[in-house]
Amino acid sequence: MAELKADVLVLGAGMVGVGAALHLQKRGRNVILIDRNELAGEGTSFGNAGLIECASVFPYMFPRDFGQLLQYALNLAPQVRYSFADLPTFLPWLARYYFASSPDRALRSALAELPLIQRSLIEHEALIAEAKVPELLRRTGWLKLFRSDATLANAASDFERARQYGVVGEILDSKAIAAREPNLTGEFAGAVYLPAPGFVPDPGGLAKAYTALFTRKGGRFLVGDARTLEQASGGWRVNGRDGAAVAREAVVALGPWSDLVFGPLGYSIPLGIKRGYHLHLAPRGNAVLNHPVLDSDRGYLLAPMNRGIRLTTGVEFARRDAPATPVQLERALPRAHTLFPLGEAIDAKPWMGARPCLPDMIPVIGRAPRHAGLWFDFGHQHHGLTLGPVTGRLLAEMMTGETPFADPKPYAVERFG
Ligand SMILES: Cc1cc2nc3c(=O)[nH]c(=O)nc-3n(C[C@H](O)[C@H](O)[C@H](O)COP(=O)(O)OP(=O)(O)OC[C@H]3O[C@@H](n4cnc5c(N)ncnc54)[C@H](O)[C@@H]3O)c2cc1C
Repeated sequence: MAELKADVLVLGAGMVGVGAALHLQKRGRNVILIDRNELAGEGTSFGNAGLIECASVFPYMFPRDFGQLLQYALNLAPQVRYSFADLPTFLPWLARYYFASSPDRALRSALAELPLIQRSLIEHEALIAEAKVPELLRRTGWLKLFRSDATLANAASDFERARQYGVVGEILDSKAIAAREPNLTGEFAGAVYLPAPGFVPDPGGLAKAYTALFTRKGGRFLVGDARTLEQASGGWRVNGRDGAAVAREAVVALGPWSDLVFGPLGYSIPLGIKRGYHLHLAPRGNAVLNHPVLDSDRGYLLAPMNRGIRLTTGVEFARRDAPATPVQLERALPRAHTLFPLGEAIDAKPWMGARPCLPDMIPVIGRAPRHAGLWFDFGHQHHGLTLGPVTGRLLAEMMTGETPFADPKPYAVERFG
C-alpha cells in the first residue's frame, strides 16, 4: 500500500487535535489528522457540557476548606466521587494536585492560563464562521445557581476576584432567575449569571464541522492507531487502516489517552483523569431551558443541547478504563427532575468521558524534549472544548517559527522535571 506523506501527523481528532490541525494548515503545513475512530469528536470532546468558558479564569483546583475535604473524603459530596478500589492508582496524582492547589500556586496556574482563556471564544468564532456553522454557537451565557447563602457568598467573592481579570456578569436574586429561566422550580439563594461564554449545543458536531473544514481545505483524515507511532527516516510514521502515514513532525493530541504514546517513548508526565458522565432527557411539554444551568450545591449541570437536555455530572476519580459507575448521575437525576420539567431519557445508557488533567491544571503544549519533531498538546482538563482552537494556534505558531501570541513557557512539559 502507498505511504501517505505529509509535513505533520496530528494524533487525535478531538477538539484539541482538530484545533491544532487547522492552525497548522493555515500556516501552510500539509497535515494528516489521525484517529482510531472513523469520525472526529467521538472521544471526550463528544460529551462535554458545551461551554466555551472564556469567563473561567480560575481553574478547578483541589479545595482547601476542611468541611469540603471531609465531605469528599467520606464520598458524600455530589460534585466529586472516588472509587475506593482504585484509590492506590490515583492517590499519588491526587497528592500532586493538592500541592499544586495552594493559593499561590493556584493563582500562578490561573495567570498562566489567562491568555488562553481570554482568547478562547475569539478563536472559536473565527473557525465557526469559516466552517459556516453559526447554529453551533449560542450567545446565551450560563447560570450558576446556589441554594444556600453561604455558597452564594463564596461564589460572589470568586466572581469579584474574576472581575479584576475582565470577567463580566451579575448576581441574580430569585426574581431575576425566574425572569431568565421561567421553568425552573426551587428555592435559590441566588445565581451568578455569566453572559460572555459561548454555548455549543452539539460539541461533537462542532469537532466534526471543524474537521470537514480541514478536509475541504485539503487536509487528510486517516483512521489509525496512534500507538503504532515510530521514528522513521528522520521523521515519524503511524500505521493507518488504509496504509502508513509519514511526516517530519508529529503532534500528540490524544487527550486522556496521550500516555499510551508518550509513556512508551520514555516520558513520565503526571497526566491524570477526572471522569464524568452525561445523559440526555426530553423536556416535558413545552418547557424550554434558555441557558446551561449549573445546580452548584447539587453538583450537576443541565444544558439545552440539540439532542435534548444534557445532564452532566461533576468529577469521578477512578481508573480511566475501569467500568462505568454512574452513581453521581443516578443521584442527580431525581434532583434535576425537581429543578426542571424533564421527561424520558433519550439515551439508552449514560455516556462516560475522562477529562485529561495535569496536577497544575495547565495543559502541556510544546516540544517533546528528547525527540526531534515530536510535539505535545494535551491535558486541557475541564476546558478542552474552550481551549482546543486557541492552543492549536499557540502550538502552530511555535511549530512554524512565528512569534507566539502568548509566552509558551508555562505550558512546557519541562515544568515536571
Ligand atoms: C462531563 C464533562 C463535561 C465537560 N464540560 C466541558 C465544557 O463545558 N467546556 C469545556 O471547555 N470542556 C469541558 N469538558 C472537558 C473537555 O471535554 C475535554 O477537555 C476535551 O474534550 C479534551 O479534548 P481532547 O481533544 O484533548 O481529547 P478527546 O476529545 O478525548 O480526543 C482524543 C482523541 O484521541 C483519539 N484516540 C485515543 N486513543 C487513540 C489511539 N490509540 N489511536 C488513535 N486515536 C486515538 C480518541 O478517539 C479521541 O478522538 C468536559 C468534560 C467532561 C467529561
